Order: sequence, then C-alpha cells, then structure tokens
Amino acid sequence: LRDERGRMERLSLVGQMAASITHEIRNPMAVIRGFVQLIQERSPQSQFEYFRIIMEELDRANLIISDFLSLAQNRELKMERANLHHTINDLVPLISADANLRGQTLEIVLCEDMPDMLLNDREMKQLLLNLARNGMEAMGDKGVLRIHTAWTAEEVSIQIADEGVGIPQDKLDHLFEPFYTTKTRGTGLGLPLCLSIAERHNGRIEIHTREGEGTTFVVSFDIREGSGGHAN
Ligand code: ADP
Ligand code: MG
Repeated sequence: LRDERGRMERLSLVGQMAASITHEIRNPMAVIRGFVQLIQERSPQSQFEYFRIIMEELDRANLIISDFLSLAQNRELKMERANLHHTINDLVPLISADANLRGQTLEIVLCEDMPDMLLNDREMKQLLLNLARNGMEAMGDKGVLRIHTAWTAEEVSIQIADEGVGIPQDKLDHLFEPFYTTKTRGTGLGLPLCLSIAERHNGRIEIHTREGEGTTFVVSFDIREGSGGHAN
C-alpha cells in the first residue's frame, strides 16, 4: 500500500512539473510566434516561406507539448452524460476537410439509437482525431477512411478503418509506447494518449491489421450500470 501511495505521489509530482514547465515554455513560444508573424507580414516575398515554416514548427512544438501534458497529467476527467454521435458529428467537418486535402474520402456509418454514455467531450475528440489522423497518414493520396459505430446493452464501440500500409507484427507491440513513431514528423504520443483516454472511459482498443491492405482500430466502451463508465 505504501508503495502504491508513493507511486501516486510521484505521478502527481510529474504531472505538476509537466504543467509548470509547459506553461513556462509556451509563454516565450507565443511571444516568438507573434513577432515572427509581424516580421512575416513586412518581409519580401522571398522570405515569406521561411517565416511560414518557422511558425509551422512552433505550432508543431506546441502540439507536442499539449499531448505530452495530457499524457503526463492523467488528471481526473470531468465526465458528462452525452452521446458519442454528437462528438463524432462535431468532428466530421474537420476530418473530411483533412481527408479531402489528401485526396482521400471519408465514409461515416452511424448506427441507430446510440445510447448515451459518460464521457469527456474534449478528450473523446482528441482520441478520435488521433486515430483518424493516423489512418489518413497511413494512406497515400487516395483511399477511404471509414468510421462506423455500433452498440449492445454492454458496449458502445467505434471503428476507424483505413486502407493504408498496415502494421507489421513486430511493430504492433510498440504502438502504445510513448515516443514510438515510424514517421519522420511523428511524435509517438498519439496512441499512448488514445489508450490513456480510452482507459479513463472504461474503454479498450483493439487493432486488426493486414500489411498492404489496411488497419482497423476498434475502441469499445463498457457502458454497463455500475461500470466506471456509468458510475457517478
Ligand atoms: P505518430 O502518429 O506521431 O507516429 P502515434 O502514437 O499516433 O504516433 O502512432 C505510433 C505509430 O503507430 C505510427 O508512427 C505508425 O507507425 C503506427 N500506426 C498508428 N496508426 C496506424 C495506422 N492506422 N496504420 C499504420 N500504422 C499506424
Ligand atoms: Mg499519430
């Protein structure tokens, strides 16, 4: 028991440190971004591109910091009774714009009468967006990303299927390790974050994959009365 308490205390210390460090780093970054933007507006066309890249990289660093912070803090989520379909519908314009830019297609099939569940909308969006982005990034300049939902009395589930490269067996074991990435511009924080969010919603993540054909991520949430996902 004492070990467990020590572990929790260390965890919360890490969370607090992460919060204050990210805050301290983000402030100067925001200032830098503001000035870069000012200089960009006054700079000759030939330099415009450089400033655009600088700002893109600042935004990227900011994103890594946000993901890392969510992961390190692992804080208690404020849950509300809501419908997963609302969360998905909110995201559709964003995902489909992204897919269109890549020359890909988004296909959404939502089941009927999806029951409500306890969820944190912001985190749930983060989970779905990360899985959708991974799916799109696994496909070339065409391909279909399919999002399906289903439910039973016990579970609500969402499937995100891509027609991408698939995941070789030896990589499957590492997907949820923080900072594991096979992308030159990846952070390796997406899936660990997805897993942590799923777990805090009483969910689990299954992966079905075939090399060269595609990958399906299935996230299932336990919605039974008395399960954490339904408790007060
Ligand atoms: P990142 O996307 O920044 O690389 P993630 O944690 O989101 O980090 O994913 C880790 C790795 O898992 C990816 O680099 C990729 O190799 C693999 N991966 C995740 N989703 C898919 C997918 N849908 N298809 C193929 N590989 C995937
Ligand atoms: Mg990712």
